[in-house]
Amino acid sequence: MKKQRILFLGPPGAGKGTQASMICESDDICHLSTGDLLRAEVASGTSLGKQASLVMSKGELVGDSLVLSIVEKKLSNISKGWLLDGYPRNINQAKALGELLHKLKQPIQVVVLFEIDDDLLVQRLLGRGRSDDNEEVIRHRLRIYKEKTTPLIDYYSKDGLLKFVKGDGEVSEISKCIEEILS
Ligand code: ADP
Repeated sequence: MKKQRILFLGPPGAGKGTQASMICESDDICHLSTGDLLRAEVASGTSLGKQASLVMSKGELVGDSLVLSIVEKKLSNISKGWLLDGYPRNINQAKALGELLHKLKQPIQVVVLFEIDDDLLVQRLLGRGRSDDNEEVIRHRLRIYKEKTTPLIDYYSKDGLLKFVKGDGEVSEISKCIEEILS
């Protein structure tokens, strides 16, 4: 049975969003990107979006409880598989997610880690042109990734859930590798 409760881990600009959209469309599972969900809150001017907006523009992490509330609402209402992209981003979020998934009886089946070097990430993100994609903010997001998010690599490898994929090839090549991991 193909895996359908999936977590994507990797630095900003690694291509997680692109690959996630492709898989979710072909496998009919739900793509949950906390970045996209937060941007939607900002765009519609909700109170949650107002709280998140300044933090996001600086490249800092939005508060754990705020992000958890968004993820919990989504995951509790899904009746099919899902792919989490951009969550969790620190150990505290990973623990909260673990508890939530335990409660929902929907354990993670695989964690895919995208590996790619920093200079290429910066190049890609500068080319993307999103409002939080200027060089200073990008470098800051990368520092936060290293400091807060990379401890998750150990965290999930202890569960034997971690698989690696190289993020610097052709989109179709990377997608083939991910397909193999999920099959
Ligand atoms: P990127 O992968 O390029 O950093 P995202 O779209 O994943 O872009 O996230 C954009 C911003 O949204 C982050 O810099 C952060 O401020 C916020 N964000 C997204 N996911 C989380 C999360 N799990 N916890 C805290 N903040 C988050």
